[in-house]
Amino acid sequence: MDIALTRQWVQAVAEAMDEHKDRLTQLDAAIGDADHGANMNRGFSAAVTALDTFEPESVGQLLTKVGNTLISSIGGASGPLYGSAFRAAGKALTTPEPDAAEFLAALRAGLAAIQAMGAAVLGDKTIVDAYAPALDAFAEELGAGGDLAHAAARAAKAADDGAHATIPLQARKGRASYLGPRSIGHQDPGATSTALIFEALAKVVN
Ligand code: ADP
Ligand code: MG
Ligand code: MG
Repeated sequence: MDIALTRQWVQAVAEAMDEHKDRLTQLDAAIGDADHGANMNRGFSAAVTALDTFEPESVGQLLTKVGNTLISSIGGASGPLYGSAFRAAGKALTTPEPDAAEFLAALRAGLAAIQAMGAAVLGDKTIVDAYAPALDAFAEELGAGGDLAHAAARAAKAADDGAHATIPLQARKGRASYLGPRSIGHQDPGATSTALIFEALAKVVN
């Protein structure tokens, strides 16, 4: 993963959030407060703007910048969660342009940050339900000798499957958990935005 590709990833995420903002907001309207599309669109658009005038020396610095920008520009649950994830991923990197295995380790640090902050586990109907299976698929593909492009493609598919698999779940974390069993039958907005983030990664590294 190099700096130019990472920039393209953030740009592609911003485009995806803009394209899918109405869907994310509709999902959040069903089990939350109807702002997830606006939150993600605002955050990643701010990240692109922040990167316009930033010349990082490493992928780590770039990801850390994205994390800081998300934290300061998105309110609600998702800003601190995604912001901490990008920051932790950035800080986990020790080489300026990591190989696929080191990039996976950084993505894992991102998930760990989300779980440290939000205490969600698999099945709680959150971001974790897309993010965790994405990393499992990514790792499995690398373990089988696959490259970054194949790993990212597998991760994107697994994240999307994970997001769909939140539909029958009852939310146990976040705003949707206030609904109790009424949260069942709706896809989680945060898991859906996570799937878009992995889809954007797969697109740019292919
Ligand atoms: P808010 O709920 O504050 O309005 P958003 O609508 O932007 O924030 O984000 C909601 C999403 O955040 C949920 O769909 C869920 O995926 C995610 N989320 C909420 N709480 C947690 C948590 N503790 N851990 C992981 N993800 C969470
Ligand atoms: Mg919301
Ligand atoms: Mg909100």
